[in-house]
Amino acid sequence: DTAPRPRGVTVLGATGSIGSSTLDVIARHPERYRVHALTAHRSREALLECCRVHRPAVAVLDGEEDAGWLRERLRAAGLDTEVNAGPEALVEVARASEADVVMSAIVGAAGLLPTLAAVQAGKRVLLANKEALVMSGALFMDAVNRHGATLLPIDSEHNAIYQCLPVEHRGGLEHHGVSQLLLTASGGPFRGWSRGDLAGVTPDQACAHPNWSMGRKISVDSATLMNKGLELIEACWLFDARPDQVEVVVHPQSVIHSMAAYADGSVIAQLGNPDMRTPIAYGLAWPERIEAGVKALDLFSVARLDFEPPDETAFPCLRLAREAMAAGGTAPAVLNAANEVAVEAFLAGRLGFTGIDELVGCTLEAIAVESAVDLETILEANAHARRVALERLGHH
Ligand code: NAD
Ligand code: MG
Repeated sequence: DTAPRPRGVTVLGATGSIGSSTLDVIARHPERYRVHALTAHRSREALLECCRVHRPAVAVLDGEEDAGWLRERLRAAGLDTEVNAGPEALVEVARASEADVVMSAIVGAAGLLPTLAAVQAGKRVLLANKEALVMSGALFMDAVNRHGATLLPIDSEHNAIYQCLPVEHRGGLEHHGVSQLLLTASGGPFRGWSRGDLAGVTPDQACAHPNWSMGRKISVDSATLMNKGLELIEACWLFDARPDQVEVVVHPQSVIHSMAAYADGSVIAQLGNPDMRTPIAYGLAWPERIEAGVKALDLFSVARLDFEPPDETAFPCLRLAREAMAAGGTAPAVLNAANEVAVEAFLAGRLGFTGIDELVGCTLEAIAVESAVDLETILEANAHARRVALERLGHH
């Protein structure tokens, strides 16, 4: 028979917000996709549930004890899923020959090695884990080109820009008549607040995003605008753009997901309801289009689209990220590591909201930029920045 076999998919970070949306889209198209592997950090109950529904060949958790627990439950449920543990097991499912597509949806630096492994294996890589690209920029893009991987951005802004650019856009935007990328930002839950107002905000306030429901780390990043800073760096690498070719536009409705401006004055935008299943479905099916479970956009209920410049005085993270990108080398990895430490401390109640950009700023100042020649240098910069940030945190 000539029916194409379903493509195998590994979902790294299957129990998270992006992971769940990915499994939702996959389940709508059983004739196209089959789950090869699902991974999670410690949420074993949630991963058990995912395994029951999606029946992967392999499941991965971080710890041996959790893996043993999951193995036992799966056997009891009559499933023969192989269960493995630890970072090496993540790398294995990312490069497994049974996986045609790898969704990179682990949060933070922990996603770097498995995502790179998928790239090096020449997979179709759906990139949600922006931290991996921010840390390793040049090296990552180089690996994509060298190993013939297909990299499709899942971050809604980058997915939008990808859709607004010509199919062939490598080698510098100006060669394709593109004058600027317009990166939209919701402004987060504290848009319009002053620095003084921000000092006392709580983790729950910061995680109550007006338009998107997301994991807690990216929710805090959206509230500080560090998310937009990381996305600016991400856009530079994905689209061969200089930082000055990326303009951040605050657009509170989150209906325009980003835009590309052309030399002739045209601006092309991608619009849609704020639902990550749209970019996920785009990445899975590209260059085709499939149903994603997302409601059609109702422009009459949207009614209006507003735009304003970002407030970099109240929210200095955007400027810090732009400076780190301009500094180059290991600076973005340092920025990312310090931010991960700061956000974790904020969520744990050990650091105030405005302490986040202060900690990132002083960590960047304390560490000399090195050229990011290889993975070891990047991982060392990451570890070094974590030590410095934790030490500064102790003095806070
Ligand atoms: P989340 O916290 O909801 O889920 C994270 C997933 O990664 C979980 O499955 C968790 O078990 C796993 N994980 C966490 N730490 C890990 C570790 N140390 N080792 C292995 N696995 C680990 O996060 P999310 O909101 O789904 O975001 C995932 C990534 O996608 C982030 O990089 C985020 O910036 C990016 N992203 C998310 C959204 C969104 O709407 N949620 C939008 C754009 C980009
Ligand atoms: Mg985004």
